[in-house]
Amino acid sequence: MTYRSLGGASPDVDFRTATIQGQAPDKGLYFPTEIPRWDKPFLNAIKTMDRDEMAWQVMHPYVGDCISEVDLRRIVHETLDFNIPLVPITPEIASLELFHGPTLAFKDVGARFMSRCLGHFSQERSGRIVVLVATSGDTGGAVANGFFDVDGVDVVILYPSGKVSPVQEKQLTTLGRNIHALEVDGNFDDCQRMVKQAFMDADLKSKVFLTSANSINVARWLPQQLYYILAWQQWQQHQPPVVSVPSGNFGNICAGMMAWSSGLPIAHFIAACNANDTVPRFLNDGHYAPNPAIATISNAMDVADPSNFVRILEIFGNRQSLTGQLHSESITDAETTDTIARVHRETGYLLDPHGAVGYLALERWIRTHPGQQGYILETAHPVKFPDSVEAATGLSVPIPEKVRPIMEAEKKSTEIPARDEALKSYLEGFA
Ligand SMILES: *Cc1c(COP(=O)(O)O)cnc(C)c1O
Repeated sequence: MTYRSLGGASPDVDFRTATIQGQAPDKGLYFPTEIPRWDKPFLNAIKTMDRDEMAWQVMHPYVGDCISEVDLRRIVHETLDFNIPLVPITPEIASLELFHGPTLAFKDVGARFMSRCLGHFSQERSGRIVVLVATSGDTGGAVANGFFDVDGVDVVILYPSGKVSPVQEKQLTTLGRNIHALEVDGNFDDCQRMVKQAFMDADLKSKVFLTSANSINVARWLPQQLYYILAWQQWQQHQPPVVSVPSGNFGNICAGMMAWSSGLPIAHFIAACNANDTVPRFLNDGHYAPNPAIATISNAMDVADPSNFVRILEIFGNRQSLTGQLHSESITDAETTDTIARVHRETGYLLDPHGAVGYLALERWIRTHPGQQGYILETAHPVKFPDSVEAATGLSVPIPEKVRPIMEAEKKSTEIPARDEALKSYLEGFA
């Protein structure tokens, strides 16, 4: 398998180069030159395959001969090393719980796969790789955990001081070793600006090998299709599901669309957005016009200009075939809070704010399409957003057993001012 740049001005590369580079030299996103097609016998087979075999079957065409079969089988096994149950909430709506991984968020899947691939490739190079990320909460924890103790790779995570939840902060700051948490005296935009600036600094990049771990990286993006298949293995109805995905950068939903393109039965996709409504507006009127990002209670989706949307356009070719398969809905914070409260009251199921956005969008779709059924991707555990969940339900969410040890571990972070030069001199320490 080779990958071409959607920027159109860089040469095709293999999986290894796409993973190490993240973004193509022309700043385009990498996209597979061909999408594997699953025929009927293959689909029938993966419906009942054990998850390790299924994951290997699906991923190996994307990886090609960049990783040996033995190593890739080990990597996919470690990637899916936790439960991903499809839990019914109502007769029409189920929840694909993606929050049973080590950091209680779906990003664990992509981060674990990418970290192991990058660790594998770093053994074939001389010199360390430094993964640089800015986080508003969830990405950083998943990346930190995924890369912990991976040989040859250091991870530097910038997060805004005082602006991530207690669980999230502990996930970033308690690991140590090759994971370095920088607590920035500023907001998330400052963190992002500093990271962008570092990636553009030719002098710095000549001294330190920098790469990113965000969802534009093919090794983080592509393995996310595996859990759409795990959902299908658990799907009991005759007609295919409608799938509602809480969306920010649109990497998660775009991965599902890759599986659908390969042949996975999915009736319709719903991109559930918060007040950041660039895509719902685009589907309505054909104008792609991002506004400035708005802060919401589903803050992992506060993205105004989703970077993976170009990949979605690439899959569908034009807006008309896209609207045949994708609906998108913008949900307000008040509706999100109300949905958490109502669903908890009526069904006993506790949603996090992101899952609640997905739930309401799916519920509205089913109201106008009676007879259809589907599931939401529940992208994070409610304990990661305790304030919103408590405001909606009055419940304080108990911390799951699994995270208790880190809540007691000691926080280790380096405080830095929100200045580009401060990050640069810190990174020069890795030269
Ligand atoms: C990152 C994230 C999202 C958005 O996923 P995208 O792939 O960026 O669309 C949704 N929910 C949670 C909890 C997240 O952490």
